[in-house]
Amino acid sequence: MATNRTFSMIKPDAFADGHTGGILTMINEAGYKIKAIKVIKLTDEKAGQFYEVHKERSFFGDLKRVMSAGPIVALVLEKENAVADFRKLIGATNPANAEEGTIRKKYAKSLESNAVHGSDSDENAALESSFFFSQFEIV
Ligand code: GDP
Repeated sequence: MATNRTFSMIKPDAFADGHTGGILTMINEAGYKIKAIKVIKLTDEKAGQFYEVHKERSFFGDLKRVMSAGPIVALVLEKENAVADFRKLIGATNPANAEEGTIRKKYAKSLESNAVHGSDSDENAALESSFFFSQFEIV
């Protein structure tokens, strides 16, 4: 059964470029409530843990470098059908393929600096939320 929560990150590129407000507005206008939010800077090691599923990929080193290059905004978001609808809202991984009206179409610079993360399953949404937040930090 689908849960009503997902996990998102505003990535270092979008945070550094001042797009946090614009992205949060798009998220709110899509009907999501913010259940937890924090600005935090990942180390290379922590970025590697978060993206461990990609550790054998050729771009893993780049991914860790990009994700630890500056602060990120970690978010737990709530809405009906949260995970699937959020993937639609952020758009394709490669912004060249992202549809008009999506966050990545508007704010992503490249495949590696693609502005936002969104969980791809309910199970990962729960795991990723607990990577950043204790149960007391999620309202
Ligand atoms: P997502 O769920 O849409 O974020 O995509 P993935 O889980 O497949 O990949 C995680 C992140 O790794 C993406 O958001 C990209 O920033 C990055 N990434 C994915 N594929 C590539 C690639 O081929 N090259 C590089 N440099 N980065 C990639």
